[in-house]
Amino acid sequence: MTIAGMVRALVAVMTATIATAAPAASGGTSGAPVLPATVRPGDVFVLRPAPGLSALESARFCGKVYPPLSAPGEPGPFFLLGVDLEAAPGREAIVVGRTGGGEERFVVSIVKRFFPEERLALPPAMVTPPQELAERIAREQALAADIYRTAGAAKLWDRGFTPALEQKAAGNFGRRRILNGIPRSPHAGQDYTAPAGTPVKAIAGGTVRYAGDLYYSGLTLFVDHGAGLVSVYMHLEKLLAAAGETVTAGQIIGRVGSTGRATGAHLHLGVRLFEQRVDPERLWGLFRNPAPSSHLNSPRETGISHP
Ligand SMILES: [Zn+2]
Repeated sequence: MTIAGMVRALVAVMTATIATAAPAASGGTSGAPVLPATVRPGDVFVLRPAPGLSALESARFCGKVYPPLSAPGEPGPFFLLGVDLEAAPGREAIVVGRTGGGEERFVVSIVKRFFPEERLALPPAMVTPPQELAERIAREQALAADIYRTAGAAKLWDRGFTPALEQKAAGNFGRRRILNGIPRSPHAGQDYTAPAGTPVKAIAGGTVRYAGDLYYSGLTLFVDHGAGLVSVYMHLEKLLAAAGETVTAGQIIGRVGSTGRATGAHLHLGVRLFEQRVDPERLWGLFRNPAPSSHLNSPRETGISHP
């Protein structure tokens, strides 16, 4: 054995020891759990518990309960977990319950993520909607909250997620807007600037929960993908799917526009996972190459790759 070979063997042994002793570390050996050691607010990540833990009931994480999932190419049940954009930094436990009792604990560190900040000074009339609109706005906010809260339990997507359009994201997920010195709710999605009329595709299979005109977001579509996941498409010029309709991944469901409170043609794409506001851009790489178990050791497979 060469020296390099000995070093590699030693590193392999050490990695195996670490993986056994600390399940929270990224899984390095077959049979070890796979999850990222650190995550950031807005992340979506996959936890693949060890193969021995096949009869799984749920995973509890940051106050939410996630169901076990299966997918083509996946060697066993896994969990898709989300970190809300305003999650506090620190170590968080993931408690996986086994069918028939017993549980397994994993630990992941949520590290701080810096979001861009935007300070604007606008005439008060532009910041505060007129009184006669307050009722409509409250009703529409309740509608959205209800959709996020009641997302279906059964997973309707098969092989991961596909971008809604080709354009690059603005990178403004989580942006904090401070209007006239008062912080507003952070930007809970990504904006994609694109010419009006550009086709918008469903990011995964699902059921349209709502398709209609809302005060702030204009022509808007909510798609329920099941397993707690909902995507929302805002400011559309045209809706090409109706409430109750089943859509498939990549199906054109609308066209880019600037309806609602938008200053130009763009798609606002939002994603909620059990009400956690997550960054849509974290979804694309999650299951791109499902299949060989040898791929499970790649950090890419955890879905966490921070440029
Ligand atoms: Zn937006």
